[in-house]
Amino acid sequence: MISTQRWLGTATAMLLAATMVSTVPSGAHAAPAGDVTVAVQNKLLEEAAVAAGQGARAAGLADTRVTVTRRDGRAWAFGTAVLVAPQEEGLYPSGWIFVARHQRGDWQVAFEGEATFTELAAAAPASVVAQQEMAALTAPGTLAANGDFRTGMRLPFTVGQSWTLRGGPHGWSGSPRPFSSIDLQGGDQRVLAVRAGTAYTMCKGWIRVIHDRGYATDYYHLWNNINVDGASVSAGTYLGDTGTDITCGGSASSRHVHLGLRQNSAYVAIATHNLGKWVPREGSTAYEGSALHGSKRVYVGGALYNYGALGFTQGIVDSNGGTSISRRSGPGTGYGVVGSLADGATASIACSSNGTSLTGRWGASTLWNKLTDGTWVPDAYLYTGSASQVNGWC
Ligand SMILES: [Zn+2]
Repeated sequence: MISTQRWLGTATAMLLAATMVSTVPSGAHAAPAGDVTVAVQNKLLEEAAVAAGQGARAAGLADTRVTVTRRDGRAWAFGTAVLVAPQEEGLYPSGWIFVARHQRGDWQVAFEGEATFTELAAAAPASVVAQQEMAALTAPGTLAANGDFRTGMRLPFTVGQSWTLRGGPHGWSGSPRPFSSIDLQGGDQRVLAVRAGTAYTMCKGWIRVIHDRGYATDYYHLWNNINVDGASVSAGTYLGDTGTDITCGGSASSRHVHLGLRQNSAYVAIATHNLGKWVPREGSTAYEGSALHGSKRVYVGGALYNYGALGFTQGIVDSNGGTSISRRSGPGTGYGVVGSLADGATASIACSSNGTSLTGRWGASTLWNKLTDGTWVPDAYLYTGSASQVNGWC
């Protein structure tokens, strides 16, 4: 057993060693010319030191894995960079997609999420950063920050199957927040992409898919993972099987997929987002919690049925503990009841308007949604992933 304290010490020692290695006459940030792998390793060790300084247990390590997947002569390189974690419970690797340029004797290395990454990716030849992945890798996405949590994601397995929620929201690295990740197992054990995107193999057993709206999803512990380097995948593309792979660190006591949600190149809390028409909810501690489908709540150990993705202009009826809600002829409780919708049903929204204020599970709202059948339901009783209108004003 290795204590956190010792790992922090080890990381500091390794960083000092790395700094000494990289100190060459041409500049403070110089790496040995021509060896992009060393330059990326040095940057990983800098990241490790920063993470260790912030008390993160997963990083702060000296074991790195750099995979250069593309090169353009001596000037450009592209690939994945991973800080391998010890094979201990609650520890996970950290990984980045990188682009690097050799200029004036130095390799300039940028990791996804950094401003220089966008600059370098834009300047790189198409053989190093393809046109279609440029948009995915550099798209700004501040939607969650604006109260918009719509993902358009299904659960990471075949629609229509039910898998066990093995672990509720927890950190990519176990206990540390944000609780970006959930653990799932069951069904045919085939792990599928939750939404279309651009896929990368970060390490054996670990796939990252970059989606639209700034989101990305990480899948770890996979057996038989596909080997991809910027491949376009669809919602439902096979990525690998659930497994116990810990090639890049951590621990897995039994087969599962550790699914992590990212936005803007960082892990974000998965709660409040929606996958397969389920909203993960945090418990009091990591790995506890539940998932909500309307008012139906499934706790850790229970089964999640994959309903498929919730569309960007759809909502799930959440009566906050009831069995159904009323559909009305207009945007308020003063309008007549013209029907009902069952709790958990999917409603398609045509447009929205303001009306009677009601309070549901997710708070108070004056917003009412006109459905595609012409009837109205209050937004207070509809989970759309957004506090505002999702398909324009009526
Ligand atoms: Zn996990």
